[in-house]
Amino acid sequence: MSRNMSIQDHIITLKQDEAALLGYSEDELISIIRDVGFSCDGCGRCCTASYNGHVFLLDSDLPYIRNNHPEALIPAPDFEYGDQHGILYVSGYALRVHEDGRCLFLDADNRCEIYENRFSICRIYPYMLHREPDANGVVEWRQISGLGEHGEYHSEITEEEATTIANQVLSYELDFVRQQIGFWEAISLYFDEQNLRHVRKIYDQALRRFRKGEPVRVMVYAGGSFEEHIVGIGEYRGFSSP
Ligand code: SF4
Repeated sequence: MSRNMSIQDHIITLKQDEAALLGYSEDELISIIRDVGFSCDGCGRCCTASYNGHVFLLDSDLPYIRNNHPEALIPAPDFEYGDQHGILYVSGYALRVHEDGRCLFLDADNRCEIYENRFSICRIYPYMLHREPDANGVVEWRQISGLGEHGEYHSEITEEEATTIANQVLSYELDFVRQQIGFWEAISLYFDEQNLRHVRKIYDQALRRFRKGEPVRVMVYAGGSFEEHIVGIGEYRGFSSP
């Protein structure tokens, strides 16, 4: 097995996801959106880490937050890879949360303080287009996140509204999967250029040190290259991982 085999596996799987997304029927998505008829009831749960993990930011989200709220940026909490020196790698940034897991921008009335400038995932939520395993392990398309767990249903959604949502969802999911492909391709190139290799044991040890409170170096993929950070577990209070 070549040393980059696992990287290539990631890229192949993601490219399959990309092809599947491109082949997904927009009409079907429109029909599901209209059938479900989701409407937000303002419960605010979707903007908390305990319910939804973290808000992952696409490259297109970065200019606004860098210019206006740079303190809200943090390397996304799922460090996906590591090198033989114990440096960790992650495919993008996330939004910081308060210690209770609430988004920094969620006000006391469960309203988004930056609603007009909210991020890509916030704009399409709770719609999605992922293939995920169900409770029996059967992999199927998922189009609505947390179906039946929040919000209200059977609201009237016009064909025009549903088409707009479907276009936004497809666009988001493609951008997301392409950012992931870009990350793994950049990892492949960077590891080759820098003579780096992934050693599972060292990666696991780095994660363990981090969880015990030792700061770690994390390379964050953004805009086609890597940005270096040193982070400590204290900055991740409120997240369910790492
Ligand atoms: S930015 Fe706004 S919409 Fe997005 S998670 Fe935070 S409070 Fe919610």
